[in-house]
This record gives sequence, structure tokens and C-alpha cells, in this order.
Amino acid sequence: MAFKNLGLPLVLLDTLAEQNYSDPYPIQVKAIPAILAGEDLLGIAKTGSGKTASYVLPILAQMIKRPKAKNRHVDVLVLVPTRELAVQVQDVFFQFCHHLPDRIKALAVYGGVSINPQMISLQNINILVATPGRLLDLIESKAVHLTNVATLVLDEADKMLNLGFKDEMNAIFKLLPNKRQNLLFSATLSPDISAIHEIILNNPTVVKIEEEKENLDLIHQTGYFVSSEKKGPLLRHLIKSKNLTQVLVFTASVYKADNVANKLRKNGIEAEAVHSKKSQGTRLNALANFKAGKIRVLVATDLLARGIDIELLPCVINFELPRSPKDYVHRIGRTGRAGNEGLAITLVSDEEKHHFKIIQKKMGRQVEMFESEI
Ligand code: AMP
Repeated sequence: MAFKNLGLPLVLLDTLAEQNYSDPYPIQVKAIPAILAGEDLLGIAKTGSGKTASYVLPILAQMIKRPKAKNRHVDVLVLVPTRELAVQVQDVFFQFCHHLPDRIKALAVYGGVSINPQMISLQNINILVATPGRLLDLIESKAVHLTNVATLVLDEADKMLNLGFKDEMNAIFKLLPNKRQNLLFSATLSPDISAIHEIILNNPTVVKIEEEKENLDLIHQTGYFVSSEKKGPLLRHLIKSKNLTQVLVFTASVYKADNVANKLRKNGIEAEAVHSKKSQGTRLNALANFKAGKIRVLVATDLLARGIDIELLPCVINFELPRSPKDYVHRIGRTGRAGNEGLAITLVSDEEKHHFKIIQKKMGRQVEMFESEI
């Protein structure tokens, strides 16, 4: 199946070719025609499956046909759980907007940064990507209205419900027109998702991309048994001896993320920490520099375990285990993406051994373990 058979307009096909998107991914083959036909959609797919383009492309195609809306009345609302994902989704809209009429404008709004510039930027925006809290603040200040929303997207919907966004989401639902197209994407079909799917989706097309297993096959997982005190030296040893040039390191706490990044820097290894206590600007800069290869090591909490796409990331190291086995899979899923192989190394202290057994059991895979070389 080729992009040209999915019903997209020529102008988008040209942009796809420019961006070297030669063939559609499975989710795109199924989702694009259904969305273009105006159907509701439930997509069970992880980041890395190409799900963002699977809704961005048909939404842009629909926007070309739509007349200009009233100022500050958006046509499309994409709700996402994190600031980083908001920016990432906005960038995919930008990526495909190049040759479209100027009136089609996308913007991401999220908390943690000053609201005033966002209020100003919302002039003439018709595609809004937002985290729920900031969206409600902007609605309250009358910077944006939802009465014209024709398409609603919930990206990473499972996460949004998990995080306790429920009240905010309910408040937003009340402001939306009843007649609209709903597109819901989730990594898993959890009970929460089933519940919301019944409420908001109207006889949806269901697209399920069995990606997780395939993805794990591309990730070489190993680990080291090591005492907590020796984890720092072992991390440095691994980075140097394996000549790792771009590594995403996960810690269990904000404090530890800062601590690990500081120690790496003291030892001459370029490193930055990203977590919820850093300002939004710092987080975005660190991520951009890491993606561009300007920082060798990015140390993160589980804030980055979901949804963030780093092209060709070769290696993830779990400095500490996450609490949930699902988060382990999400963390290591930052590597081994889009058909490329990846390496995931996990450092396991005595206290973590039992928990790591549970993680392996839940994942259905055994990780090859070594005793620390340090
Ligand atoms: P996503 O799941 O939306 O985060 O997408 C994962 C990655 O796949 C992103 O880097 C996209 O740019 C890339 N991508 C998505 N669809 C295609 C495609 N059809 N061909 C090539 N790359 C793609």
C-alpha cells in the first residue's frame, strides 16, 4: 500500500515525499482512510508506530477543505498528557504544514511556562495541541473557545486517565460540541480506556497495532548485578568501555537524576538531567540538544518514559528500576524504534533483584544478567 492510495491530497503527498516518508506504516494504512471518511477511531498503538502522522495527515487534509473559523475558535483539539508530547505533536503538524494555505495554523499550549505569550499566540490558531490543565486556564481567560471543535484527538489516552486528569477531562468534554469526530489513541486497552471509549466514541473503527512484541525483539536487553554505591562508577565504565555516544539513563527520582548527571559531568561526560522540577525551557533545550547529539547522556525520570521519540536512539540504561513493569517496557521502548536495533542495560542492586524478576515475568522475557565488572 502506498500513501497515494490512502486518499490524501497531492499537496500532502509532495510533502511526504520531501520528508522521505516512502511507505505508510500499518497504523497509517488503516487510520488515514477511516479518519478521512469522518469516522471515529480507536487506535491501540504505541509511540513509535507512526500514530502521530496517522491522525495529523488526515486532519490536515480535512482542514484544507474547511472554511476559516472565527478567531480563537479552534477546529481541532489534540489533548496530550505531557508538555514534551505536546511540543512533539505540534512539530509533526508543522512538519506537514509547509505547502498548505497560511490559514492552517497549529500551536501547542502547556503548563509550566508563562500563559501570556500563549494567549497572544492563540490568535488565528485552528489546530490546538494542549495539556488539559493549561487548556482550561486558557478557556477561562477567553483566549480560546471549543464550540467549533470538529475533531477531538486524545493521544496517550491511557496515561491521561491514569494521571488523574479525569476531572479536567470531564470539564473539557462539557465544553465541546456534541457533534464531532473523536480519535482516541492509547498504548493499551485498559479498563479506563474501555470505559471512556464507550462514552465518547460513536461506532468507531478500531485499529490495533501489535507493536510491543515486535519492538522488544529489536531491543537487546542485558543487565548487571551491582551494589547501589557502585552504580555510578559502573555507569561511567559502561559509557566509556562500550563507547556509548547517545544514552538515555533513567532514574527513579528527581534527586537521583540530578545526582547522576552531576557525577557524570564531574567525570568529564556531557550530561543533563530532565525531570518535573526543571523549568519547561530547560527540559525542552536539554531534549533538543540530546536529540541533536550535542549532549552525550540525558538522565531522566519516568517523565520521558512515554511518548518521546528520539530518532535512532541506540541505548537506554536503567540506573534504577521503575515501579511498574509497564514503565520498564516504555523506558526500553525509547530505543529499538522504527525498525532499528537498540540496547537496553539495567543496573540491579540486591534490593531490586526481586522486583526485576517480577518485571521480567510480566514482560515474558528473561534478561541476560552479568555480575558488575566494577
Ligand atoms: P510516532 O509513533 O508518531 O511517534 O512516530 C515514530 C517515528 O516514525 C517518527 O520519528 C516519525 O517521523 C516516523 N514515521 C512515522 N511514519 C512514518 C513513515 N510512514 N515513514 C517513515 N517514518 C515515519
